[in-house]
Amino acid sequence: MMNEVRENVDRIRRELAEASEGRYPTPRLMAVTKTRGAEEILPLAEMGITEIGENRVQELKAKLPELGDAFRIHLIGRLQRNKVRQIIRDVCMIHSVDRVELAEEISRQALGAGLRMDVLTEISPAGEEQKGGVAMEEAESFLRKIAPLEGIRVKGLMAVMPLTDDTAYLEGLFSGMRKLFEQIRETAIPGVEMEELSMGMSGDYRLAARHGATVVRVGSAIFGPREERIKE
Ligand SMILES: *Cc1c(COP(=O)(O)O)cnc(C)c1O
Repeated sequence: MMNEVRENVDRIRRELAEASEGRYPTPRLMAVTKTRGAEEILPLAEMGITEIGENRVQELKAKLPELGDAFRIHLIGRLQRNKVRQIIRDVCMIHSVDRVELAEEISRQALGAGLRMDVLTEISPAGEEQKGGVAMEEAESFLRKIAPLEGIRVKGLMAVMPLTDDTAYLEGLFSGMRKLFEQIRETAIPGVEMEELSMGMSGDYRLAARHGATVVRVGSAIFGPREERIKE
């Protein structure tokens, strides 16, 4: 089992390097560890994985004692305002900020904890805003609204692509995200550092690497298929 995981990690790293070669720096590989136990997660450290992504607050809290400080933990899923306080000291970055009220609560809790939280703005590149994410056209005005909050540092953009086999369509969305990322970087909004473009999952990390993701979030391609659990 562990050998299989190691082979997957090695293969994914190779594929990321190949896909980005000559265009962009190779994206970092974040392991998405939702639904996986600490016994599966801890060996990743020996494979050079330093960042993991979790999407549920309760699940993350339950695993924390066993994980210790082996990894930098990213919160990548929907986050309710009333749960921000619980994880503010435990994660290094929150990827799914798409509402001003959520950004305000993160800022308030971060200041209360004596820190500044790195956040990404989640964009909805396919216009599926019902699933969460800010429309591409509204990204800049959204960033201008949250940038002044003192308890957060805006570090970039995040996207979850629609589930589809239409590669050409996906390439268009990925390249649109990269363009938006660069355009906002050039606009130089005070308080916004465009360093991180978080996109690409198990089904599409090669395309994401090809189009300039800085970090990909990969779960099942590392660990194997996941049993679906009840959504939070
Ligand atoms: C689960 C999840 C991933 C990883 O999904 P896989 O298809 O298992 O790689 C990436 N990003 C987010 C936001 C997720 O919830």
